[in-house]
Amino acid sequence: MKMLINGKFEDKEETFNVINPYNNETVDTVPISDRGDVKKAISAANMAKGEIQDMSSRKVSECLYSAYESLKAEQKKIAKTITEETGKPIKDSLGEMARSVETLKFAAEEAKRIYGETVPLDAGIGGKGFFAFTQKIPLGVVAAITPFNYPVNLAIHKIAPAIAAKNTVILKPSLQAPLAAMILAEIIDAEFPNGVINTVTGYGGEIGDELTVNEDIDKISFTGSVATGLLISNRAGMKKVTLELGGNDPLIVLEDANIEKAVKAAVLGSYLYSGQVCMAVKRIIIDEKIADEFIDLFVKETEKLKIGDPMDPKTDIGPLIDENAAKMVEQSVVESYKKGARPLTGGNRDGNFFEPTILDNITPDMSIVINETFGPVSPIIRVNSVEEAINAANDSEFGLQAGVFTESIKNGLKCANEIETGSVFINKQSTFRTDNMPFGGFKMSGIGKEGVKYAVEDMTRTKLIGMNLR
Ligand code: NAD
Repeated sequence: MKMLINGKFEDKEETFNVINPYNNETVDTVPISDRGDVKKAISAANMAKGEIQDMSSRKVSECLYSAYESLKAEQKKIAKTITEETGKPIKDSLGEMARSVETLKFAAEEAKRIYGETVPLDAGIGGKGFFAFTQKIPLGVVAAITPFNYPVNLAIHKIAPAIAAKNTVILKPSLQAPLAAMILAEIIDAEFPNGVINTVTGYGGEIGDELTVNEDIDKISFTGSVATGLLISNRAGMKKVTLELGGNDPLIVLEDANIEKAVKAAVLGSYLYSGQVCMAVKRIIIDEKIADEFIDLFVKETEKLKIGDPMDPKTDIGPLIDENAAKMVEQSVVESYKKGARPLTGGNRDGNFFEPTILDNITPDMSIVINETFGPVSPIIRVNSVEEAINAANDSEFGLQAGVFTESIKNGLKCANEIETGSVFINKQSTFRTDNMPFGGFKMSGIGKEGVKYAVEDMTRTKLIGMNLR
């Protein structure tokens, strides 16, 4: 595929092979662009600012609705591309597309609801006789930098709110999985003036860095790893920055939990897209009194998962994004064995595949519970009380989401109040998101919120206009 800059397709001599992680075949190639190409895209996005700001909110909303109709019509085809470039099971790629279509619709709706407010300046010294109000005005050019794992949904969560708020956008998708996101950009481009949405492909360290440091970018909306997020926040200067980073999400199962429901949540939450999900269940914290009963059922259900060709609608577990990713998971699991962990099922790597793995005898010094393991691994942490469960959940530098299973409102709310994460779900796993909710973590999991309404807010700045009527 080619990049899209100012409504035109742009190619480069040097290209990158996008590899299907299931069969290691090349799906397509994309250009490897350089800082010069990014500057061209930034200049196009700056030129297009006036045009989108000239459009009425009604028109912007209508164009987003048209893009929504096109995306809806193309969703099955794009889901196939997602599966080819990421190895994500097709049923999950279809799920990602359904959510992306809905996200675009939320943005079309939100484009009509960007309000300011009147401000009583006369409540302050010297403010008597003023009439004042605020406006939410566009920021200008938004750089959207996205990871490989949800290539369309994470891109639409940036592009659609940015455009709803009348900004222009440069999308830099992950080089590992850029194709579906580039199709998305083409669909949106068809509805808007040239330069409103642009795509650049290439290495993050070069073109991602240019987007980060370039003074003609007004906001960086980044989703990806903590390491890259920190780099960006150190180099972004005065730009507005939203960072949606990694997680190490706990699933707490208390003594009074419905065990069957908790097991279902653990399987779905831990192994969706082989655990390559920021909000995947990464630690299972369980009351000792029900641990054995839970584990028996959890192992049984995990062993039922179908591993194989991600294009097969029955497949639950496909490959990881590449062999290096699978080796990193393996390394972390092997290190845990050396410190005393015991596998209850799984534990083996086969090329890019890693088996769903449950580990017992976990201690807090193991990297498997300290770091974000981007793979299908469930370490079990046994505790003896609600307080211990909360302490274990908070014993992490991350704070994205959490899930708690309990039949007691009191215990559920205690956990919800005391767990330091951006969201806490009672009787649901952390691996849950609707696209209108405020989504974003605490601690090292990031800064700012996405979810269309909240992202739109973040894609504007507030201007006060005051009239002295005396
Ligand atoms: P990554 O950080 O390696 O890459 C993300 C993006 O940043 C890519 O487009 C990459 O090219 C770009 N990039 C790399 N170096 C850069 C630099 N120096 N400057 C600017 N951009 C640069 O992440 P990944 O491996 O693609 O994705 C996995 C990570 O993403 C995991 O940590 C996961 O938890 C996180 N993630 C978070 C969320 C969330 O919403 N919180 C959602 C999905 C994934």
